[in-house]
Amino acid sequence: MIGQRDTVSGAHFGFTDRWGGVSAVPYEELNLGGAVGDDPGAVTANRELAAKSLGVDPARVVWMNQVHGADVAVVDAPWGDRPVPRVDAVVTAERGLALAVLTADCVPVLLADPVAGVAAAAHAGRPGLVAGVVPAAVRAMTELGAEPTRIVARTGPAVCGRCYEVPEEMRAEVAAVEPAGYAETSWGTPAVDVSAGVHAQLRRLGVRDRAQSPVCTRESEDHFSYRRDRTTGRLAGYVWLD
Ligand SMILES: [Zn+2]
Repeated sequence: MIGQRDTVSGAHFGFTDRWGGVSAVPYEELNLGGAVGDDPGAVTANRELAAKSLGVDPARVVWMNQVHGADVAVVDAPWGDRPVPRVDAVVTAERGLALAVLTADCVPVLLADPVAGVAAAAHAGRPGLVAGVVPAAVRAMTELGAEPTRIVARTGPAVCGRCYEVPEEMRAEVAAVEPAGYAETSWGTPAVDVSAGVHAQLRRLGVRDRAQSPVCTRESEDHFSYRRDRTTGRLAGYVWLD
């Protein structure tokens, strides 16, 4: 259910694993993604189970329509009947409002400045790393009063640099933007390490309290992995402030 949890000065961070939900194969069990072909009723039930397990109100969780870009939405309430915007980061200054990011190999990035009361969730895959979605989220937090040196950053389970094989040109394109993303697979071919790239971006922005999940989604049977299974569920990362 909740594979990893952390609380720092009233800022809460949680990442799910794939177990404890009601979805059937190949989305078993806790698929939280609404656009992957799973039964919508199962996804709603899973979102309620995950929220309950975290101690948040499922009606006070803000989801995104993620598109591998770098756009950021500032929110102060759940979307309700409004269309869910096509963004890869959401930022809020509303305490008690939970922000959620869906992934299955991409890096879920959770950020919070407990002093300013500002939180953000971002979806950073290879395109998001290159496009700078995480720096964009930090900028949006700063505009709401956050200080990078006070931001607590947690990144969740993602495909690791030893598993994420890409063509040579793609690795070069990533490394030109973010050298820390340069990697090699365990079998000796070009690869990208998105988590390392995200942490390098955060470090340069002045974010000091950073932690990275040790879990590789592609190697873990307890996590969804798009690169391993193609048709599969989505994990979620949640951040909120007391
Ligand atoms: Zn791996």
